[in-house]
Amino acid sequence: MTIDRPLYMVDLKGQYQKIKSEIDTAIADVVESAYFIKGPWVKEFACNLAGYNKSKYVIPCGNGTDALQIALMALDLKPGDEVITCPFTFVATVEVISLLGLTPVFVDVHEDTMMLDETKLEAAITPNTKAIIPVHLFGQISNMEPIMAIANRHNISVIEDNAQAIGADYTFSDGTTKKAGAIGHIGTTSFFPSKNLGCFGDGGAIFTDDEHLFTRMNMIINHGMKVRYYHDDIGVNSRLDSIQAAVLDIKLKYLDEYGSARKAAAERYNQMLSKVDGIKTPALASNSTHVFHQYTLQLEQGRDELAEYFKKEKIPFGIYYPVPLHLQKAYSGYGFKKGDFPVSEKLCKKVISLPMHTELDEELQNFIVKKLEVGMQSVVNL
Ligand SMILES: *Cc1c(COP(=O)(O)O)cnc(C)c1O
Repeated sequence: MTIDRPLYMVDLKGQYQKIKSEIDTAIADVVESAYFIKGPWVKEFACNLAGYNKSKYVIPCGNGTDALQIALMALDLKPGDEVITCPFTFVATVEVISLLGLTPVFVDVHEDTMMLDETKLEAAITPNTKAIIPVHLFGQISNMEPIMAIANRHNISVIEDNAQAIGADYTFSDGTTKKAGAIGHIGTTSFFPSKNLGCFGDGGAIFTDDEHLFTRMNMIINHGMKVRYYHDDIGVNSRLDSIQAAVLDIKLKYLDEYGSARKAAAERYNQMLSKVDGIKTPALASNSTHVFHQYTLQLEQGRDELAEYFKKEKIPFGIYYPVPLHLQKAYSGYGFKKGDFPVSEKLCKKVISLPMHTELDEELQNFIVKKLEVGMQSVVNL
């Protein structure tokens, strides 16, 4: 069993080839203009992204981690204020909470969708809780309707970490829909190359409908300054540059097409894997569409053995995430311990993500799944 094409976790080369001339022209235009920072491309892209996401305001910034930090900075929190997020995610959320001297509070996740368990949210709220950051993991949206209801009841701000679900839709019980990142008081996203809307370096953006927050965050990203060299706020330097904006403005036009390609690939995987024992294919969240940033399986046993086998056979895979945030060394000072968030801890031992990108086709997937089947045979024989 062989294949004569390289396998990638994310095939950014193949994706680029299809829009190469459009991209190359746009980059050349920026270079010739020499307008590298705050060029017209940044405004144009922000405007188009706001239109796509049906958000009133979009603030492009340096990356998705900065976006989270700037969002928290705009809320005027003070040291000791508590911010709730989940322990089964990328480190960025808890990192910015800690950097700002705020106190991270975790709420465990649902085992099936792997996202914040809203039934456990209210119990974690104290008089010091000032913000909640639900993470839209792997391409689906957290259950935002109950999360917003609880937050509004307690007068708490909600920041959606939308680094992985841009383009997904959430349906409310009255039938209305909103885009991921346009539901909370603030939404943030990342344009890291491998994200669903990725640029050719680092990039990020912040969404909001709130004019006050928009004005505030617009100042914060630019050294806290509204009038040049007059600083009203302590800010940061976090900007999306013109080249990245020009690339993103082109890729934004293809975002829904990219989402459909990922969904089609996920459906082929589901079908191919339906006959394989011992694995659970991704569970669908009830009110969200899925843009499949990752295609993540859960294995009751043998995950590490399968990972070893994939490594040996040179099949790309990812373990997102191997250690829950509350058990990371860097955050041991907060006094969390093993057993605090059992679902997240369990998921870290069960998950394995298969290659997922816009260029996957049936032949590649057949090859991957055939290898997985052989790998699972040795797992069953353990
Ligand atoms: C990628 C990611 C981030 C951080 O984005 P960067 O642009 O890499 O800083 C934050 N949160 C989640 C869930 C992510 O996947």
